[in-house]
Amino acid sequence: MRAGVGTAGAQGPDSIAAIDGRIAAIGSASELRGRYPDAEFIDLDGRLVTPGLIDCHTHIVHGGDRSAEMERRLAGESYESIARGGGGILSTAAATSRLDEAELASTALPRVDALLADGVTTLEIKSGYGLELDVELRMLRAARHIGTLRPLSVSTSYLAAHVVPPEFAGGSDGYIERICSHYLPAVAGSGLADAVDAYCERIAFSVDQVARVFERARALGLAVKLHADQLSNMHAAALAAHYGALSADHLEFTDAAGVAALARAGTVAVLLPGAFYFLRQSQAPPVRALRQAGVPMAIASDCNPGTSPLSSLLAAMNLAAVEFGLSTAECLAGVTREAARALGVLADRGTIEVGKSCDLAIWNVAQPAALVYSLGSRSLHERVWQGQRWPAAAASR
Ligand SMILES: [Zn+2]
Repeated sequence: MRAGVGTAGAQGPDSIAAIDGRIAAIGSASELRGRYPDAEFIDLDGRLVTPGLIDCHTHIVHGGDRSAEMERRLAGESYESIARGGGGILSTAAATSRLDEAELASTALPRVDALLADGVTTLEIKSGYGLELDVELRMLRAARHIGTLRPLSVSTSYLAAHVVPPEFAGGSDGYIERICSHYLPAVAGSGLADAVDAYCERIAFSVDQVARVFERARALGLAVKLHADQLSNMHAAALAAHYGALSADHLEFTDAAGVAALARAGTVAVLLPGAFYFLRQSQAPPVRALRQAGVPMAIASDCNPGTSPLSSLLAAMNLAAVEFGLSTAECLAGVTREAARALGVLADRGTIEVGKSCDLAIWNVAQPAALVYSLGSRSLHERVWQGQRWPAAAASR
């Protein structure tokens, strides 16, 4: 048994006891000293302690980079136009297919390490650049491998319908058929995916096609989530809600009916202000309506090479506040409690409660607002993952 007590002060319930990586008690320093006299005591000098941050939407495993596309977009070309011309996701898919599992994991590590330096202790990683089954499985294995290379928890999503492969151009129904009949059963059998994701958009897949994927995924016992209403109102939020999705992500164009459907289903709205910023979008997600309807709101980096090359969850919190109008409390909840809910792991993580994994972020600031209001600050003092301490200077190793 390895017991430790972290204490931020001497008065009130300001101390946390951990045993074997889980939170055993929360109380005052004197109370916990009495209960665990043999434990190692760590004085946190009054620092702010939050749950370890959770990035619940990333495409962090991929080959290549797409910096040239930024120049095209700066020259006025739209993301849709670049995607239709064979750029965008297809160019990343080609670069990804050339890397083996170890290379896919190692090229992602600098981005992963940047997130760890922001206090991230749980990271969602999607496949979706593989297009063919063997490369998709390779991406999922690389994602799981990252969880053995760094001290963090990894959740994986099989992004089944991301982009139509070139050989199926004009016949995306055939690709959906192949996903449903071959890919989904194989992925389910592999145990490599915690959920199934899809991209519902004019330049990707229709509501009917995503519905077929979700029917099959649910029949195989897999949870679902959806890239919904990012560039147009596809009524994709309502589709996600209909299938009891863990989350519906993006939501810039979601209408009132979509918000109501999310509220009824308890589906989490995952806001991705990085993509909104990089694409220079003007229509923000309906945050006020989501808030009013009681839809839980999470925030994620959407770390990906095309539309959100962002490896900072603290920056995503700032963008969510500045661009979408989230309060600082909503920003903190969005990367902890609600992000855990979006991954279906709230019973184990996302809040500081007895019985949960002792995943913490300890900050060199006094209040949560200080985490949100600036960009580029290095506020992390220490990460704690499953009760193990990782000082910020070596947050990842
Ligand atoms: Zn995404």
